[in-house]
Amino acid sequence: MKPFLLVLSAPSGGGKTTIARALLAAREDVGFSVSATTRKPRDGERDGIDYHFLSRDAFDRRVAAGEFLEWAEYGVERYGTLRSEVDRVLESGKHVVLDIEVQGAQQVRERCQNLVRVFIIPPNAAELVERLGGRNTEHPEEIVRRLRRAVDELTEAPTYDYVVVNSDRTQAVADVAAILDAEARRPARLDRLETTIQMLADGIANEVKLLNEQQES
Ligand code: 5GP
Repeated sequence: MKPFLLVLSAPSGGGKTTIARALLAAREDVGFSVSATTRKPRDGERDGIDYHFLSRDAFDRRVAAGEFLEWAEYGVERYGTLRSEVDRVLESGKHVVLDIEVQGAQQVRERCQNLVRVFIIPPNAAELVERLGGRNTEHPEEIVRRLRRAVDELTEAPTYDYVVVNSDRTQAVADVAAILDAEARRPARLDRLETTIQMLADGIANEVKLLNEQQES
């Protein structure tokens, strides 16, 4: 199996981080690309696990050094995918889950061939507002900013490869897992497909030869 990039996008509060984490816990064939950000850690977030928390200077230095596969501004903060993170996961033979917003997803689409993009949408507006407010991590102004942005982000959903409605978390994780499994079976992603087909063809030719010999004797 040739590993690929699985880009998950959703409006903030859409549940993509939870889905990504659940997918990681449930499957051995996926790894997570830990993004870099200039925003401050929330309670419980750990450096190097949830994000690489960088100062603005450190972030910009890495941008200048070409270390990012993509990066974007989200509100007043910067977020980006480090090439080293993606390579680390791919080299371990696993699919790479990227939990990124739409501008970054667009950049990845322009720069990588081997990716699948999934847009996760909330079942309704009330649920999105509740999830954003309920996690108690953002100031009310930031929540409003994120909701306004959600309206723009949602317009990008039709450009993705798949859309998953996150009304039930377990079902949404199962939906994304089904997408992963189907995409892993694309011919270009199967290892040694040509060899397998050649072996099958040789085997069939051999069987035909034996049948012919039996008929002749
Ligand atoms: P949060 O501050 O809620 O963790 O993330 C804010 C937004 O930034 C979310 O939509 C999240 O998916 C996005 N994000 C997280 N990491 C990255 C990244 O590496 N690149 C981009 N473009 N967006 C990211």
